[in-house]
Amino acid sequence: MATEVADVTVANGHVAQDQIPVENPATGQVIAHVPDLSPEDLVPLVERGRAAQPAWEALGFDGRGRVLRRMARWLLEHQDEVIDVIRSETGKTYEDAQLAEISYGAAAFNFWAQNAEGYLADEKVKSANVLVKGKKLVTRYRPLGLVGVIGPWNYPLTNSFGDCIPALAAGNSVILKPSEVTPLTSLKLEEGLKECGIPEGVFQIATGRGATGAALIDHVDMIMFTGSTATGKKVMAKAAETLTPVSLELGGKDPMIVLSDADVERAANSAVYWGMFNAGQTCISLERLYVEEPIYDEFVSKVVEKARALRQGFGESGSADVGSMTFPPQVDIVERHVEDAKAKGAKVLVGGERGKGQGYWFEPTVLVDVDHSMECMTEETFGPTLPIMKVRDEEEAIRLANDSPYGLGASVFSKDVTRGERVARRIEAGAVCVNDALVNYTALELPMGGAKTSGLGTRHGAGGIRKYCQQQSLLVTRFAMKKELYMYPYNTRATKLLGKALRFLYGRGKA
Ligand code: NAD
Repeated sequence: MATEVADVTVANGHVAQDQIPVENPATGQVIAHVPDLSPEDLVPLVERGRAAQPAWEALGFDGRGRVLRRMARWLLEHQDEVIDVIRSETGKTYEDAQLAEISYGAAAFNFWAQNAEGYLADEKVKSANVLVKGKKLVTRYRPLGLVGVIGPWNYPLTNSFGDCIPALAAGNSVILKPSEVTPLTSLKLEEGLKECGIPEGVFQIATGRGATGAALIDHVDMIMFTGSTATGKKVMAKAAETLTPVSLELGGKDPMIVLSDADVERAANSAVYWGMFNAGQTCISLERLYVEEPIYDEFVSKVVEKARALRQGFGESGSADVGSMTFPPQVDIVERHVEDAKAKGAKVLVGGERGKGQGYWFEPTVLVDVDHSMECMTEETFGPTLPIMKVRDEEEAIRLANDSPYGLGASVFSKDVTRGERVARRIEAGAVCVNDALVNYTALELPMGGAKTSGLGTRHGAGGIRKYCQQQSLLVTRFAMKKELYMYPYNTRATKLLGKALRFLYGRGKA
């Protein structure tokens, strides 16, 4: 595959004094440079975005939907090129890029093209209040104007660019600040949007580091942020200065509970597949496992056998199961968590070491004899590690799963789906799967968002597009009503009538 990407010293027509080098993390080679935009560099982008928005809104759902549908086709026609770019800056395998990025993107362009209008349609409201009887009450959604999207490095298409799609479908202009680690995918997709006819200024990319993201917050009508919980708190604090609304999709420490009546083979397959997917660099990755005593030994031996068989590499499609780490400092975090666990008594059954050659690698790793005194069970590892803890029973599993400041996703395995669902409902997480994991993310109708410190707001479903809109309620009095209970001139008859009406309506309920 082509791992080289042309040196991009000027991205998106913007020239900046400083440049950010972009590395291929699988090889450690610098493959491109992008501009590091300063706060002042953002001003013309903001002006262009604001100027372009009214015409984009006026195009209506059909007009915007046509651009988005074209883009779904463009993405599929150019998928190998896009996968090459994604892989060149993330080090992920071909299969990881195809399943979690291309398939998500293609589905999302179509989904929002098809559903934006329904989710944002006017809603007629009926009120029981006698004061508004006979009046037309409506809730409607209007685009906010200019939306800022700030994204992370682990899924440059799905989690960065992906959040721009519903914002655009709603009729907003968007400025995307992709991660400085993986900006090339967004620039490639911007090319596609232009080919598909997006009007000038409606979608723009501001490459840069954290300071560029922070400056963007001051300029936009809403910030959609995906990244770590630590940065999410800074984003919210900055947005508070201008009362800019935020939606935050943050870090996680997702538990997997394997109950004694689970299909052990399926649970072990899911653990290895979804724990190692994208080299464990997924916000809803399986980060810690709790397994009931009666099946613990069988489960561990299956996971060990499967994890040992994983192939790690950066070759052609079909040549590897696990790719490299994307962000070099993340290798240090993974290593620190493994070393901390070992020092506190954990055993490494598979892997446990960082890669020794070029690039940034960590071996698929299985740890046992772990507990909550260890960082690998309490802090986000974001790497290819599966720490497995034996638990006495369901209650202990639930207690430990909830013993975390995070609450993004979780999964529960049991052949008794009633039991599985009962346990799932007790987990403090925004999304829980029973006998499955992560695949809930592909159901774009299903809201996805974090509980506790894992986020604020949701993506997908109605909430995933309404957040990009101002909810406006309308009350329309169609004609001069003769029996209005309020109105100048003052009317004592009406006041008496209101007294009676209030007693009739609200004074008769059982206390
Ligand atoms: P990060 O928080 O370091 O950076 C995210 C983005 O924020 C980057 O674009 C960065 O440049 C920008 N940024 C940094 N400082 C900023 C500031 N002060 N103001 C505004 N923007 C700023 O996160 P990361 O390391 O890129 O991504 C990994 C994290 O993202 C993990 O914690 C992972 O769980 C999380 N994540 C969450 C989801 C989700 O849907 N919940 C999805 C993907 C990743």
